[in-house]
Amino acid sequence: QVFNFSSGPAMLPVEVLRRAEQELRNWQGSGTSVMEISHRSKEFTQVAQDAEKDFRDLLKIPDNYKVLFCHGGARAQFAAVPLNLLGEHATADYIDGGYWAHSAIKEAFKYCTPNVIDAKTTVDGLRANTPMSSWALSDDAAYVHYCPNETIDGLAIHEEPDFGDKVVVADLSSTILSHPIDVSRYGVIYAGAQKNIGPAGLTLVVVREDLLGRARKVLPSILDYQVLSDNDSMFNTPPTFAWYLSGLVFKWLKEQGGVSEMDKRNQAKADLLYGTIDNSAFYRNDVATGNRSRMNVPFLLADASLDDLFIEESLAAGLHALKGHRAVGGMRASIYNAMPLEGVQALTDFMQDFERRHG
Ligand code: PLP
Repeated sequence: QVFNFSSGPAMLPVEVLRRAEQELRNWQGSGTSVMEISHRSKEFTQVAQDAEKDFRDLLKIPDNYKVLFCHGGARAQFAAVPLNLLGEHATADYIDGGYWAHSAIKEAFKYCTPNVIDAKTTVDGLRANTPMSSWALSDDAAYVHYCPNETIDGLAIHEEPDFGDKVVVADLSSTILSHPIDVSRYGVIYAGAQKNIGPAGLTLVVVREDLLGRARKVLPSILDYQVLSDNDSMFNTPPTFAWYLSGLVFKWLKEQGGVSEMDKRNQAKADLLYGTIDNSAFYRNDVATGNRSRMNVPFLLADASLDDLFIEESLAAGLHALKGHRAVGGMRASIYNAMPLEGVQALTDFMQDFERRHG
């Protein structure tokens, strides 16, 4: 059995893949596949509406929020957010907590002069993020943008935002649906689908209604939240197959017990993996305990000359995609919702065996 630790596109629940496989060429007895029918047909409209409803149920999204099914990945949102929300404002607060937050800042500089708040720090020599209470937000910012889970750095900000009436924008690409959140604390949430939702090509945006209609004129219509909302995310042809498959993942999540059940399972997986790392002198994770990601676990071998062998042997053992991001090296295990505890158990068994043989 193969366990895929890819950071994204990532592993999908096996039950979902089986169902998609069964339905691929004869969806709902139609003799055709779901990706070959019109996005405007009554059949696909039902798929789209069911997916939205299930997603709303899972995250308990209040009625005054729109859910948009978009193209362009999270990176498109790096531009869409400022162009939809800045209005007449000349600045927005941007928390620089890691690689992806930093990438969003670089994009934002095209449209405004962001107030950049460096949230990277160290605690006892370990990488960490500064607490939210220390962030010096500016009075004239249109919004505050941050990324609670840094997929590459393995850093997470576990606090939920509480900034009064400030508009909070969060990039949840690698943590959405992995634990309950209070949506009402956010103005905009966005997430590329390819980690914890479904196939690449789809991006979910949750936006509070009063933030619609503020877009700058130069904003391409396809990124305009108002236009997308007015057209039920079908201003142009949406990524229908990714939408359908994400809908199956939402149903699967509900069957599993929803986001609170995922929360428990994700904690158990993370505890097992970090515990194995911490109990060994052969492996190490250099993130402070309070900022450790439960989704993306980077770890280093004490002897980096064994890295290639580790990758080779882990692959042979059915443990795929453990190589760390090129920006940081080492190893990284992404353990999103679809990764079962058995997968993490297989990984930790392998790690201990590798240590016995090469330590
Ligand atoms: N934000 C986060 C937190 C990510 O992990 C990624 C991709 O890994 C991105 C943004 C960029 O996503 P996309 O490739 O969908 O544009």
